[in-house]
Amino acid sequence: MRIGFDLDKIFINSPPFIPDALITRLYMKKPDGALEYRIPSKPEQGLRRLSHLPVFRPPIPENLAFLKSIPKDKNKIYLISSRFKFLEGQTNDLVKKYRLDKIFEEMYFNFENRQPHIFKNKVLKKLNLDLYIDDDLSLLNYVAKENKKTKFFWLNHTKKNHRLADNIFAISKLSDIFK
Ligand SMILES: [Mg+2]
Repeated sequence: MRIGFDLDKIFINSPPFIPDALITRLYMKKPDGALEYRIPSKPEQGLRRLSHLPVFRPPIPENLAFLKSIPKDKNKIYLISSRFKFLEGQTNDLVKKYRLDKIFEEMYFNFENRQPHIFKNKVLKKLNLDLYIDDDLSLLNYVAKENKKTKFFWLNHTKKNHRLADNIFAISKLSDIFK
């Protein structure tokens, strides 16, 4: 199978002092209801770089372990992260630290600062995945409509497993993708 994964909040946790409400403020809806993400301003980029120091971004060990347990002879796995250009240095450090380049067949990052859902949609169309896992439901709602053959999973630890749309499923742990 061809399987894609998001990075943040899938394998790397967010700092506990940044509440979800603040992260949600990263996106806004345009008046016509279309999804649009805000790219942080320069001063905010500095602050966010600080929040991306390794000490504030612990790995999620059980998810990294699951990733390494996926049989590589039967599956190809891909990393698709919409991290912006201002996090490129820290992202490269992270890739080295966890040897992500040895784990994934290919890695895609949004270093050209595209809108995250547009960026991921383009990569998803190119890769033609069987499964894709992300924690951002607004983004999944967008790409699921555009990629009908892919099965999408919303990783959310507070919701029970259930189907959200024809091709979107809520899961509480990564291993549920093979159920
Ligand atoms: Mg994420």
